[in-house]
Amino acid sequence: MNLAKFPRHPLTFGPSPVQPLKRLSAHLGGKVELWAKREDCNSGLAFGGNKTRKLEYLIPEAIAEGCDTLVSIGGIQSNQTRQVAAVAAHLGMKCVLVQENWVNYSDAVYDRVGNIQLSRIMGADVRLDAAGFDIGIRPSWEKAMAEVREAGGKPFPIPAGCSEHRLGGLGFVGFAEEVRAQEAELGFQFDYIVVCSVTGSTQAGMVVGFAADGRADRVIGIDASATPEKTHAQILRIAQNTARLVDLGREITAADVVLDTRYGGPEYGLPSEDTLEAIRLCAQQEGMLTDPVYEGKSMQGMIDKVRRGEFPEGSRVLYAHLGGVPALNAYSFLFRNG
Ligand code: PLP
Repeated sequence: MNLAKFPRHPLTFGPSPVQPLKRLSAHLGGKVELWAKREDCNSGLAFGGNKTRKLEYLIPEAIAEGCDTLVSIGGIQSNQTRQVAAVAAHLGMKCVLVQENWVNYSDAVYDRVGNIQLSRIMGADVRLDAAGFDIGIRPSWEKAMAEVREAGGKPFPIPAGCSEHRLGGLGFVGFAEEVRAQEAELGFQFDYIVVCSVTGSTQAGMVVGFAADGRADRVIGIDASATPEKTHAQILRIAQNTARLVDLGREITAADVVLDTRYGGPEYGLPSEDTLEAIRLCAQQEGMLTDPVYEGKSMQGMIDKVRRGEFPEGSRVLYAHLGGVPALNAYSFLFRNG
């Protein structure tokens, strides 16, 4: 496998920390050792997260092409757009963000606090659009690109979750390499890696990265899209493309992509009671925060799988915390009683 042939523009602090979740593990019976890799604090750029790691491999292309404006898209409380705004500010580029109505939820301040507030503060041109949830390419986005060009700028398109970009899977191939180096220091290997999936390139990169040591199907995706067939197909397609890019040496097949579809409901962006219970439990056992759209669902999935005995006794499970906590402010109503 050859990841090093791709240029990488550093945006993260370096390897993200790996820490044991001792109290949560004990609370759940102590038969499974839970750990977390903290992508939620991987960078000083507006709190970082999984997109910051992916962008390290996209930004060299933006710079090489002489682009001056990063254009991206997401929901109103998108973490991706906040991270793109931060990277644009850091690089001295402009930023146009199309923020769509992906989530069937309204809070008095939903479009003013959390991620969208941070993007505005960082100087991004934030455009609200009425379109609903879809992880594909949108007319509103094409329009934003055209407008940058008409104004004499040179846009660099960054699709939702970086996932439709050819290089979008590379960052999390690097994540797997980083985990291997951390495992060598710890003196053991993780048996499972739990990851939240929506647009797919995070899990796709991990599948390729862990395929290199035979652990592709030990990456347990927890669907948070509530459209799991689409997400599964997208993970598989991105993983196959990424495997070819990095010369993995074998094809990725559907058997390599494990996606647990039990926790994505009731719909994208809306937590179930069990999601909220998982968010509170993790916060109260570990002081580690998760959000109701993404990591709360993967935390719910991991906790439920431990409770059901789905991880064999003695397993070491690594929870990939991909970020997303700034969105919590927009969901204050859900937590009005704690
Ligand atoms: N977790 C957080 C906090 C996210 O912002 C995202 C973005 O969609 C995900 C998980 C899912 O990652 P992906 O879209 O690469 O599947």
